[in-house]
Amino acid sequence: MARPMDLALIPILLGLAGPPNIILVVADDMGWGDLGVYGHPTIRTPNLDRLAVEGQKWTSFYSGAPYCTSSRAGLLTGRLPVRSGMASESRTVLFPDSVGGLPQSEVTIPEILKTRGYATAMMGKWHLGHRPQHQPEKHGFDLYFGIPYSNDMDARLPDGPAKNALIRTPKDEYFNVPVFSGGAIVERPARQETLTRRYIERSIAFIRANRERPFFLYLAHHAPHVPLFAHAQFEGHSARGPYGDVIEEIDDGVGRLRAVLAELGLEQNTLVVFTSDNGPWLAQKDLAGTAGSLRDGKGTTFEGGVRVPALFLWPGTVKPGVVLEMGAFFDLLPTFASLAGASVPTDRVMDGYDLTTALRGTGPSPRRTYFYYRGATLQAVRSGPYKAHFVTRLEGHDQSPHPLDPPWLYNLDQDPGEQYDIAKDHPDVVAELRKLADAHTRGVIKVEDQIAARAAPVH
Ligand code: MG
Repeated sequence: MARPMDLALIPILLGLAGPPNIILVVADDMGWGDLGVYGHPTIRTPNLDRLAVEGQKWTSFYSGAPYCTSSRAGLLTGRLPVRSGMASESRTVLFPDSVGGLPQSEVTIPEILKTRGYATAMMGKWHLGHRPQHQPEKHGFDLYFGIPYSNDMDARLPDGPAKNALIRTPKDEYFNVPVFSGGAIVERPARQETLTRRYIERSIAFIRANRERPFFLYLAHHAPHVPLFAHAQFEGHSARGPYGDVIEEIDDGVGRLRAVLAELGLEQNTLVVFTSDNGPWLAQKDLAGTAGSLRDGKGTTFEGGVRVPALFLWPGTVKPGVVLEMGAFFDLLPTFASLAGASVPTDRVMDGYDLTTALRGTGPSPRRTYFYYRGATLQAVRSGPYKAHFVTRLEGHDQSPHPLDPPWLYNLDQDPGEQYDIAKDHPDVVAELRKLADAHTRGVIKVEDQIAARAAPVH
């Protein structure tokens, strides 16, 4: 008699497989250089390294923005956050006193996948609005377990040096971050040292419960965003210290998810994606990650702010290899829709490209450009290997905008670290990129800023 695993393979062998399961794992503030397979010398990530080797590792993949809220809005909608109002000049992200969130008029990845019968779940950090009308269940997720915004918010610590010292040995009671499930607060303050593990356990339960139908799991870790809490099993685990402990726990979770997929016979029909929402929060020094050979980090439009690790695994479908071409968060919605046989909205501007040809290894990535925003300001543009900076923040992400005239120009293929400004030698390229930026900006319609408004917190 056939075992259940064998039965699960029959439709695949007959070419009758339905839409694939999709597991999207997103780390928070993990840098481009923080995984073994991206060259980190002391953080061990055997599960993600294996995923990269058995699948595709992209070296020029961009997040949605250099900050959490905007980046996640871009991820789930396939649109630049400036188009949905999830990008602001007055505040970087949503805070507990924020009023706004992802508008209902936006169409999200889970909403699109649900048209094809997917079960949808989100575990982890949402950060797209915590008032009732903005929560994940109102944006296409059947179930949600996690924290509504960053794990350092609702701090009960005074700002200043004392806070900086205490954050090195964090305790749950220093923060008053709530955990939501089923639209209600189920825990407060969050027991952060076990939270990452609980995301994994609930993810595994969701996979088991939906093994017979297509599912979409969005696992958005709140880590390694500071404060760094690792499970006791991972404390002191890494030579890299507390930051490495947290990364190694995330890595272990990916291994556990893969083990369940293997046990259930779902590996051949599941796409697993791993990435990060923005670059490392360098102001946190050794508590932050690294962008490796890329310049700067979170909050900036240098490569280190927005270029992130990106791994894709789907045995038998995604062609193993290293992809040097461009991809971005905005591309995931059209790519997932394509794989699921679902349609992409046609009544609005979409900013993504379908990457399935590149994933299957039958053609190049269709993405040739990337528009670098900080808040609602377009600061830089990339076309092919060339990137022009028109505006920048010079010293980390708290400085005011600094227009650059003439702009800085870098060739990112030859100079990925953005060290050598070649604008003087290529005025024609600068002019082309300026034209591209101007045309793009003319096509962006101003909408209500969702991040600016604040009021007394509701929770
Ligand atoms: Mg982040």
